[in-house]
Amino acid sequence: MDLTFVGCGDAFGTGGRFNTCFYVQADETAFLIDCGATSMTAIRHHGIDPNSIDTILLTHLHGDHFAGIPFFILDAQLYSKREKPLVIAGPPGTRARLRDAMELLFPGSADAPRKFETDVIEMPKLESTEVGGLSVETFPVSHHCGDPPYALRVTVDNKTVAYTGDTQWCDGVAGAGRNADLFITECLFFDKQVKGHLDLATLQERMPAIAPKRLILTHFGPDMMKHLSEVTDYELAEDGKTVSF
Ligand SMILES: [Zn+2]
Repeated sequence: MDLTFVGCGDAFGTGGRFNTCFYVQADETAFLIDCGATSMTAIRHHGIDPNSIDTILLTHLHGDHFAGIPFFILDAQLYSKREKPLVIAGPPGTRARLRDAMELLFPGSADAPRKFETDVIEMPKLESTEVGGLSVETFPVSHHCGDPPYALRVTVDNKTVAYTGDTQWCDGVAGAGRNADLFITECLFFDKQVKGHLDLATLQERMPAIAPKRLILTHFGPDMMKHLSEVTDYELAEDGKTVSF
C-alpha cells in the first residue's frame, strides 16, 4: 500500500507546506486522510486525479484538516465531472460543519444538484466503522475543535495505517498507534509541551511502548521546523513524499 503526503504542514503554512492531507492507494480503493483548506491546490500540485478518491476520512473539524472539502466537492462537480459516489467519514458534527463551511464559502452550494452522491458518515467513538471497504477505528483524543477529535486507525488489505490527528499525548494516541504498520504522529513542537499538541520530547519518551512498525512525524510548527536538521533518528514527513508499507 502506498501513502503520499499531499500536505503535511501545520495550519499556517510553516515551511511553505500544504495543510494536512494524506493520499492512500490500496488494491481496490484510494482514500484521503484529512483534507485541509489548501488540499485541492496540493492535489493538483502533485498530479493526483481527484476522481480516483473514493473516500475522505477526517480526524477532526479544524480548517487545516477539513476545509478543503468544499473545494473538492465543487471541483468534482464543475471540473473533474465526477459521477461516482463520494463518501466522507468523520466525527459526530461532520455533517453540520461541512454544510456550514460550504454555505459560508460558496453560498447555495450545499444543496446544488450534482451528478454524484455525497454520503456523510459520522463515526461513533471507540468503534470500528466499515467505510468504503476500509475498517476505521476511532480513538477520542485531546484537542479543542468544537466537535470530538479522533485519532484514526485504518485497516485495509491486511495493513494498518494510524494517524493521531492533532492532540496532546493521551490514551487515544496509544490505542490508535499500537503495532500499526505505519503510524503518523503530529509533532508541532520540538520540546515544548503545549496543551492540545505533541512534541518530539514526549514522543521519544512514549513511543517505545506503542511500537509501531514504522513511524513518521508530521505537522511541524516553527519551533519543530527550526530543529529538523537535528532530528536524525526519526522519519519526517515532506510534501510529495510517498511511502510503501
Ligand atoms: Zn492541524
